[in-house]
Amino acid sequence: MEQMMKQDPRFAKRMNDAKKSLESNPVEILTLPSDKCPYHKCDGTGWIWKRDWSKRHLPNKKDEWQEQCDCYEQLMKQREIERKLDLAQIPPIFKDATVNSFDVNLYKQSDSRETATTAKKAAANYVSNFKTMQEYGKGLYLFSEVKGSGKTRLVSSIANALMKMYGVDLAFLKADDLLTQIKKTFNGKTESTESEIIQLFRNVEVLVIDDIAVEKSTDFAERVFFNVLDYRLEHKKVTLFTGNKTIDNLGNVYIEGRVSSRIKKMSLEVYMPEESIRDDEAESENKELEKILFG
Ligand SMILES: [Zn+2]
Repeated sequence: MEQMMKQDPRFAKRMNDAKKSLESNPVEILTLPSDKCPYHKCDGTGWIWKRDWSKRHLPNKKDEWQEQCDCYEQLMKQREIERKLDLAQIPPIFKDATVNSFDVNLYKQSDSRETATTAKKAAANYVSNFKTMQEYGKGLYLFSEVKGSGKTRLVSSIANALMKMYGVDLAFLKADDLLTQIKKTFNGKTESTESEIIQLFRNVEVLVIDDIAVEKSTDFAERVFFNVLDYRLEHKKVTLFTGNKTIDNLGNVYIEGRVSSRIKKMSLEVYMPEESIRDDEAESENKELEKILFG
């Protein structure tokens, strides 16, 4: 090395400059910045590796370490939201559904479009006023008799928005699945109302029960829903429902009447169009694919 420096003064100068700059600022950033970092500082992991050259030759040298990037907290928040979205179990086809993308023009009848427009507005207002709604423990009850009218889609959109905007913990279940899950935990043992899964449904910050007006209700179903909903009402926890019976007519399903009286207190009823768009969607999807097949 010294040989080289003697032979080439320019090389010597470069080496000296490098040495001086390391002496004045011996900390080198090892992480290559990438576009994955919004600040273009780290490689998208939220961490920046650094090395202190001045400590290179010390015994027990700790000359390399990592520091949090400015993007770290944002990244953790994002991951937390993703984790929550995963846990929430929104139906996969609606996992990216937004209130904005809820298309009222999918309905063919003009009165359906009107009803859908009102429902969409209510959904958007609900989301933007969620903190107030949460204070009162008020959820929504999306109703239409017709299946496939967009209830599940709209309630999924609301759920997605609540998780993304407010970071709420949320569980999304079809009423039948909720019952099945609870039944499984009993396993023939004595029924315990304090079962872990019931605790979960009682306590989760926001619970979405899709299709609450199950076809065949049983004593068991009625007991479980009363148990969960009474607790949630008492503790002002938000529950969102969809159903193909009005809240008043839920008495035909849960005959004791205690379930519908709880739902009435804890949710605002929103009417959905009495028109199915599910079939139309399948149809237009087919049309798209037929274009590929037949040109
Ligand atoms: Zn970063």
